[in-house]
Amino acid sequence: MNIPERCSVAIVGGGPAGSALAALLARAGRRPVLLERDRFPRQKLCGEFLSMEAQALLKRIGCLEAVLALRPAVITGARFFSPSGRRVEIELGAQALGLGRVALDETLFRHAEQSGALAFEGASVTRMVEDADGVLLEIERSLPDGSHTKHLLRADRVVAAYGRRSGLDRPLDRVFLRRRSPFVGYKRRHALLPGAAAVAAELHGTVEIHLFDGGYCGVNIVDGGAVNVCLLAKERVFAAAASSPRRDAISKLAHLSPSLRDRIEALRPDGEPLAVAQLTFTAKEPSAGSILFIGDAVGMIAPLCGDGQAMALESAILLAELMAHNDGENLPKIWDDVWRQRFASRLRAGRWLQALLMRPGAAEASIRLLKPLPFLAASLLAQTRGALTEKA
Ligand SMILES: Cc1cc2nc3c(=O)[nH]c(=O)nc-3n(C[C@H](O)[C@H](O)[C@H](O)COP(=O)(O)OP(=O)(O)OC[C@H]3O[C@@H](n4cnc5c(N)ncnc54)[C@H](O)[C@@H]3O)c2cc1C
Repeated sequence: MNIPERCSVAIVGGGPAGSALAALLARAGRRPVLLERDRFPRQKLCGEFLSMEAQALLKRIGCLEAVLALRPAVITGARFFSPSGRRVEIELGAQALGLGRVALDETLFRHAEQSGALAFEGASVTRMVEDADGVLLEIERSLPDGSHTKHLLRADRVVAAYGRRSGLDRPLDRVFLRRRSPFVGYKRRHALLPGAAAVAAELHGTVEIHLFDGGYCGVNIVDGGAVNVCLLAKERVFAAAASSPRRDAISKLAHLSPSLRDRIEALRPDGEPLAVAQLTFTAKEPSAGSILFIGDAVGMIAPLCGDGQAMALESAILLAELMAHNDGENLPKIWDDVWRQRFASRLRAGRWLQALLMRPGAAEASIRLLKPLPFLAASLLAQTRGALTEKA
């Protein structure tokens, strides 16, 4: 299939946000063009914890059954460890999932395709130029045989779902680029060592968060029984512990947390590591000119909240609903207001919680306080959650 020369809606990025929007628009009778730089299956840096809210949103997108068919691990509780190893257990109150992004993202992308979107993999948008006649997209396509082609696509409306940071942000002069961010993310898949039955039993049904000075690390079982280990740390902490080789970053950081060291000793790496720098958790502009942003492209919640994928899906659902009623010139202004009302306070709450728990003294005090009051922890996390799922 060839990329068309003209379309009414082009969506840049086929992660959870872009694929969800493409599926919803297609199911509403439109024919969006979905452009994804990578080819599936592909890895993605993520804790791979899929919140209960995300499942209700997947149902609205019409994709929950396909996701459950991937046989994700079931998660019903969370366990937080302070830097000294003190722990608190929290009942999630509903069933969350552990599901690898390799499987999830491809399933969502195929769902968009099957719903009627014109979906292209290996299609990297290299330039977006807005003029009176819409937006002109320059696209470089890499084909499975290794060849490359160039395309121009004119779209009446462009939705940018290209994730937390892209070369496309620079020409749009987005404000967040002016500030350096100190956060690094790192993830690696692991397998449980034979004889690690006690750790396997503890991890079963639980997501663990190990707090340490300047960061935290999530550990949870995902589909297929693999253990995903994913951390967020201040750049200085990461650099000091993991200067070389980066492949070994998690075991190098484990000395900062006895509970994490205990887990790492029961695991062996089973996959290539992924690392990203310059992670920001502040809200960005929801629109630039006529271009609208969804998902991480407008704001990523602190990973500790385990709700980034749900927010990406939720922003797609909200925008699809707006576009069904009004896809006119004033949509960017409306989207700015709707996005801020829905998400800005959640992002702030996530940042606050993350900053608190990255400080060892505050982390110890919080875990001590929450131990007899686990419902308080659940209600703190609820501040980072949305209410849209009630409609599901
Ligand atoms: C350390 C860490 C841990 C996390 N853990 C969790 C967790 O456990 N649970 C959770 O729910 N969330 C978690 N998140 C957040 C979650 O990963 C994101 O919120 C989610 O991926 C956002 O989806 P998205 O579709 O907006 O962006 P993405 O998933 O980033 O998708 C963007 C897509 O756009 C494509 N793209 C980029 N540029 C172009 C281009 N120029 N042309 C075409 N395509 C392009 C990319 O290839 C990508 O496929 C975590 C994040 C981090 C950093």
